[in-house]
Amino acid sequence: MAERELMEKYAELALKTGVNLQKNQALMINASIEGADFVRIVARKAWEMGAKNVHINWSDDELSLLKFQNAPEETLTNIPDWQIAKQLSFAEDGAALLSISSANPDLLKDVDPSRIAKANKASGEALKEFRKYIMNDRIPWSIISIPTKVWAEKIFPDLPMEEAVEQLWEQIFHIVRVDQEDPIAAWDEHNRTLSKACDYLNGKAYQALVFKSEGTDIRFGLPEGHIWKGGGAVIPNGNHFNPNMPTEEVFTMPNKYQVDGKVTATKPLVYGGNLIDGFSLTFKDGKVVDFEAEQGYETLKHLLDTDEGAQRLGELALVPHASPISQSDLIFFHTLYDENASCHVALGKAYPTNLQGGSDMDEQELDQHGVNDSLVHVDFMIGSADLDIDGETADGTLEPVFRQGAWAISFD
Ligand code: ZN
Ligand code: ZN
Repeated sequence: MAERELMEKYAELALKTGVNLQKNQALMINASIEGADFVRIVARKAWEMGAKNVHINWSDDELSLLKFQNAPEETLTNIPDWQIAKQLSFAEDGAALLSISSANPDLLKDVDPSRIAKANKASGEALKEFRKYIMNDRIPWSIISIPTKVWAEKIFPDLPMEEAVEQLWEQIFHIVRVDQEDPIAAWDEHNRTLSKACDYLNGKAYQALVFKSEGTDIRFGLPEGHIWKGGGAVIPNGNHFNPNMPTEEVFTMPNKYQVDGKVTATKPLVYGGNLIDGFSLTFKDGKVVDFEAEQGYETLKHLLDTDEGAQRLGELALVPHASPISQSDLIFFHTLYDENASCHVALGKAYPTNLQGGSDMDEQELDQHGVNDSLVHVDFMIGSADLDIDGETADGTLEPVFRQGAWAISFD
């Protein structure tokens, strides 16, 4: 099939299975100008589906870099009110949000990490209200990816540029199931499998999960009433959507005060345009008390210094090591892809929807239940082929959940 046809199928999948766009609903798209061809396909399909508005927030890596290099610090940290109001007005109107992302892990490598950290913190603060719509599933949202030249070259450094881009399209189409006969049906099936895994874990209501592999020996306490989620999510009116495409994970939150032990990352992490690699973190009572990194130590330090919550965990996710992304044997340098290759945790904010009643709790109640809060939410990978996970029941008994990087349970 011609690539163009697959792009059409991909756009349709993003609108139907991704954000589940409804007639008379507005659609806001975040996209890079390099992806304009694909964005136009998405926009045309959205209008055909009866969208009442299609608005694109365009970005460009080169221009972002120029700003980081040249702007005075107060410009980087001052998010204008009109920008915040624009985002909020779409959210308040119940718009669907589609982010079309690409990776550029080296973009900001020569920019002072403290400038990046300050800018990230400022935008985190400015968009706090807007982010609540996303983090609490009040509006349908989805993140998908398309290739850029820089990204393709990063993954396939030995291929000529054009071939690298083509290869990356192929990988993406395969991993998000667009190359299957009926991608929408394939996603329905996939969502059902993930939801069976969630049902199993929710039925068990473990008080902790214990992870053991080379470099990792850690116990994640789970809050009472924690909820495992995976695949699709639901907005208050009952409409389904898929926040991440691809997604291979089932995830919950650890108790922010009950993480103890050492965890070693199994893939590099790209944060704020910088690479952190070969790193490990040691936790006591939920807080990072020690950390090391072979590369990007300063970036990791700045990330942890963002706020108190950045030193605690907000997500714990299980992904079999044999996921399609693992099998591709590629490092994508992009969390959306790399996080779905492997079990992972996230530093920073937890999703309140991972706790019974969490969406209705105020900040103090959330804290009392062990739900972490932060301006950041940064996933990093800890899964591997030698990872064993045990579930700890209320009386302290350990039951196998993962053996050698795979489910130790069958869900049928
Ligand atoms: Zn995750
Ligand atoms: Zn996450």
